[in-house]
Amino acid sequence: MLRFWFAIPLWQRVIAALVLGTITGLLWGPDAESIKWIGDFFIKAVKMLVVPLIFFSLVSGVAAIGDLRKLGAVGGRALLLFVVTGQIAVWLGLALGTFFKPGLGIDASAIERGATPAPNNTTAVDMILSMVPESPVKVMADAQVLPLIVFAMLIGIGILMAGRDGEPMAKIFDSGSVVMQKVTMIVMELTPFGVFALMAWVSGTLGQDALIALAKLVGLNYLGCLLIIFGIYSAMIHFLAKLPVHDFFRGIIDAMAVSYSTASSNATLPVTLRCAERNLGVSNSVASFVISLGATINMNGTAMYLGLATLFGAQVFGVDLSWGDYFLISILSTLGAVGAAGIPGAGLIMMALVFGAVGVPLETIAFVAGVDRIMDMMRTTTNVSGDAAVATTVAVMTNEIDRAEMISADDV
Ligand code: ASP
Repeated sequence: MLRFWFAIPLWQRVIAALVLGTITGLLWGPDAESIKWIGDFFIKAVKMLVVPLIFFSLVSGVAAIGDLRKLGAVGGRALLLFVVTGQIAVWLGLALGTFFKPGLGIDASAIERGATPAPNNTTAVDMILSMVPESPVKVMADAQVLPLIVFAMLIGIGILMAGRDGEPMAKIFDSGSVVMQKVTMIVMELTPFGVFALMAWVSGTLGQDALIALAKLVGLNYLGCLLIIFGIYSAMIHFLAKLPVHDFFRGIIDAMAVSYSTASSNATLPVTLRCAERNLGVSNSVASFVISLGATINMNGTAMYLGLATLFGAQVFGVDLSWGDYFLISILSTLGAVGAAGIPGAGLIMMALVFGAVGVPLETIAFVAGVDRIMDMMRTTTNVSGDAAVATTVAVMTNEIDRAEMISADDV
């Protein structure tokens, strides 16, 4: 029985749970609330992961830069492109969410809101002050993500500055980040149960409106990702790298296919590297540096989605967001995408980070968890294509590309 269960890929179990939970809720009605606790159990487990996951993966990501001097030519350019495209992506997600309002039309008053931090009417000065981790331990205990990220980055920089003396510490964080990915996999095994219970509860209390809203969210997620891939990346390759866009996409098609089917940037890493080096002619040093770093910190699909999903949750639960909140969402979504590990479902976990800061109920996570995999596949394809686009552009800028190697339109 157990063997049979684990033989089915997790995402298929999740989709089955989504369908069965929805049907159960529609048949059962509001009484489906009696199994909601199973979903709460799942959300608690997800929340448990946020702090250690961000901490380990961010420190090891910064430390992976290897050497402060390396930050120079290649690292500086890559980071600049990561940050600029990440910001464009989040604002695209926010624009899509504001314009199409996928979460409107649901009467969520039937849903009892769990304990959610009240929206904080912070001023810019408060925000700057709140980024200082006065007590790192307290910051972790209270899951205050912004100062935690600042602290993690400082530790990463400290490791780099310490040179050889910092290496053992870097190893600890590398290993911690791998371990946390495994723990995440364990928690992800709860997803089918959580999704079943929460979908039954959501559709039991909200009815069909909820399903229409979810379909809109999935559609907007695909639209946003396609705009990033064919808009932002094409522009980068055409204007900055001055290479034929068509050849670029032809060169990375394998990586796109693998990322879509695995929903994991990490699992796709070897294929992305191979595509960049063999099909696009990017030098080995630039490819391995930019693409490995990018697999951890450059996630534009995830950043766009975090912005979109936050607005979705705010619309479902009627949370008013100010311009200050939008700004906060844009920063936290970018940082959340940086902190998300390149594994399936990582973006879902990072939602807790953004939602908590602007007062969007964490129930939203449960609401979207059932359709997350379908969206994750597209997000990951966007993330991986972005790594390849940045590596190619940086290689052109630093003369680390062999154009003779680049796939030509006549090949294939
Ligand atoms: N699965 C994505 C990736 O590996 C991260 C996410 O969940 O958004 O890139």
